[in-house]
Amino acid sequence: MTPSFESIACAATPTSIEVLGQTLAEFAAKIGTSPRAARGDYLDLMRSGLGAVLPEPVRVQREGGLVKFCLDVGGADGTRLETESVIIPMSGHRGSTWRTLCVSSQVGCRMGCTFCETARMGLVRNLTAAEIVAQFAVARALLPPSEKDKFADYRYFNSGIKNIVFMGMGEPLDNFDEVTQAIRVMNEPNGIAFPHKQITVSTVGQVDGLRRLGELGWHNLRIAISLNAATDQLRDQIMPLNRAMPLADLKRALLDYPAAPRSIFLIEYVLLGGFNDSDEDARRVADFCRGIRCVVNVIPYNPQRGALYETPDDEAVYEFVSALRRHGLFAKRRLTQGVDLMGACGQLGNPALRRPAAALR
Ligand code: SF4
Repeated sequence: MTPSFESIACAATPTSIEVLGQTLAEFAAKIGTSPRAARGDYLDLMRSGLGAVLPEPVRVQREGGLVKFCLDVGGADGTRLETESVIIPMSGHRGSTWRTLCVSSQVGCRMGCTFCETARMGLVRNLTAAEIVAQFAVARALLPPSEKDKFADYRYFNSGIKNIVFMGMGEPLDNFDEVTQAIRVMNEPNGIAFPHKQITVSTVGQVDGLRRLGELGWHNLRIAISLNAATDQLRDQIMPLNRAMPLADLKRALLDYPAAPRSIFLIEYVLLGGFNDSDEDARRVADFCRGIRCVVNVIPYNPQRGALYETPDDEAVYEFVSALRRHGLFAKRRLTQGVDLMGACGQLGNPALRRPAAALR
């Protein structure tokens, strides 16, 4: 299907979106009053009155129920910098439906994972907390009224968005302060009030960042680890961070992480045809996961321009998921929705800013 494409001119916004990066206490301090006195205004602003400050998306692409949108975050030399976000329709076994919002934490990324489109941009800049929260606010505004009505019983102010995942452009723990501030704002009880247990931070295994995150005491925050290989020898080849923070350190950090007793880590595994998809690889993944409460999400590698790896066929994906299960793991295949919109895993990033894939080797 050819995605429909609409370009929307940037509208001048009457006030700054900086407010989106502020908790109630910070908002009150900024306007020189007490949180108690500012509570009503803050509540209105964050829950329904954001129309006055929201940036217009510079691009919105729709395919089926999936929506990808970009926000202008400045730039120089004629190159516009943009955030990229994707609203993904989800459905459960019993017919329930909801939306997951995938947000970016950086423009580009410096982690250099060889299978990733964003890596080809390098790190252009970190996003601010306000720019991250703005992605949620714009997503909420983009959903058609009928969708909002459908989800009217959700607490999240009819947004229809049940989960927020930091799986867009960037390594969230590489932009620790702004990402955690954005989570603070989204979780603010007097504002958006989005629960920690429905926010997922996905990391390549930034061990220091995981330790700092653990120290915040947000026990219900969901953590996803982009594993992709379960030996240092293989992982070093596709994820340069592994050379500094090898698997043993990552496993230690996960075992030490102060998660709530029943919470489960999400282990993401991008299946690269002929590289990390053997039965032996599945056994190694099981070895790595031993002792960690987790679900393994297998993500078939998406075809890209100048791709370095093969896309595994359906049979290979099925075999690998089955092998993980035989080795005692709870594993599932993640659907790669949004391939056509370049909104699937590892496919975000402004093509104008990308280097050739071979440069990542
Ligand atoms: S996979 Fe994630 S961490 Fe790795 S380069 Fe891409 S965006 Fe960065």
